[in-house]
This record gives sequence, C-alpha cells and structure tokens, in this order.
Amino acid sequence: MSTKQVERQLIVFDFDWSLADQDTDRWVFEVLAPDIRRNLKNIKDDFEWTDLVARGLRELHEQGGTKEDIQGALRIMPFHPAMVRGVKTIKAAAKPQTTFLCLSSANSVFISTILESKGLQDLFTEIVTNPAEWDPSGLLKLRRHIDPDGPQHNCPVGCDANICKGSELDAFLKRRGTDYDRIIYVGDGSNDFCPVLRLRRQDMVLCRRHRSLERRIAQEGEGLGLKCQVRYWAGAWEVEEIFKQLPETVAAS
Ligand SMILES: [Mg+2]
Ligand SMILES: [Zn+2]
Repeated sequence: MSTKQVERQLIVFDFDWSLADQDTDRWVFEVLAPDIRRNLKNIKDDFEWTDLVARGLRELHEQGGTKEDIQGALRIMPFHPAMVRGVKTIKAAAKPQTTFLCLSSANSVFISTILESKGLQDLFTEIVTNPAEWDPSGLLKLRRHIDPDGPQHNCPVGCDANICKGSELDAFLKRRGTDYDRIIYVGDGSNDFCPVLRLRRQDMVLCRRHRSLERRIAQEGEGLGLKCQVRYWAGAWEVEEIFKQLPETVAAS
C-alpha cells in the first residue's frame, strides 16, 4: 500500500463534551436557574432542543438573569487544560499545517465567550453553529442554524433538525477547495455520526467513550460503511496524547 506525507490536515471539533468538558446549554441553566434546567429535562422529548434553549433563555431574562451572569457561568464551565495545550500545540506546528473547523449544536455566543476566556478565539477558521445575539436589554436571542420555516436538511442518518453536521462538513470542504491529506474529527454525540460516516480511510475519528457516538459507531458503523480509523478517548489529556503521536504519513487515497 502506498503512503503519503501529511502536509495539510483538517481537525473538526464538536464543542459540547468534545472541545469543552461539559454541555453549554445545560450548564448555563444549572448554574443560573436550576428550575429552568429541570423543565428542559422534563419536556425535551416534545420539542426541538434549540427552540427549548431559546425559550429557557427568555425565561432566564424574565427572572432577572443578565448578560454578565451568562458570561460568568460560561467562563467557569469545565474545560480541560490539556485540551487547550493540545490544540494550541498542533496549530502552532509548521508541519503538517492544521486547519480547525467547529461544528456545534450550541450557539455562537456561548462558544465565542468560552474560546475567548481560554485564549482560543483564533483557533477556528470557521464555527458552524446556531446563531445567537444579545439584544439591547441583555436577552440572548437564539435561533436554529436551519430556519424551521425554510428548506430542511432531510438527512437520512437522523441528524437533529437544527443542523446536519455531515452536509456542513461537505459544504466547508467545498468552500475551502483544499484537499486535506487527513481529516480528524473529535466528537461524542449522536449527531457527530453523520460527518464521521463521510470520512475516508486515511481520516480518523477521536470518539469520546461512554456517549452516544460510541454507541452509534458500534451499532451502525459497519452496516453503514464506516471507513475511517476510530480512536477512543475519555479524558482530554488523551486527545492531547493522540495529537502528539499522529503518524506523519497516511495511506494514499
Ligand atoms: Mg458534543
Ligand atoms: Zn446528517
């Protein structure tokens, strides 16, 4: 089998429980309004999740929760120092050249607030997620990435209504027009399965243990023709370790 030197690679990160060591949506309410957190848990099967979080944010605002409260909660959210080290080191390396993409079902404000607090505001070339913005009264207004009133993604893999990360990965690759020698996808959730299915055999998924992505790979991976290499991790220090030990070559496509 012929091999090829890795000159350019793309690292794709899911955000909640992948780059960050918690789930932003749930965390904000756990810190600031446990009553809203409980309600989200009770009714989550009956509504689209992003819509529910948007509603929770309106309730939080009505209860007097401020922009500063939300920013404060996000800045203290668990985020492993080894993850900060790991991504900074691999980005700083001259070879291979690494591009970072974030595909997330959180939202633009939660993600940028946390990245800034960790000195990672320049990490990603693009962040594809649900759009959010502060209104003048301090309400965080959140919308689905895919407008519920417009065309839907119709993904057959069962992606959430607000985003299909597989088609977002394809669209990013098309926009960039770059042929990456290797793509590494770091994820944990059920909606990370679709993009992982689109990876080639020279690509790699870093799948977090004990969460939905691990189960989907085990139950559906073979049947749906999963081609990429699969590496498992539990703590962020293991992602840092895998990044340090990545092979310099991949099988030629
Ligand atoms: Mg996740
Ligand atoms: Zn999909």
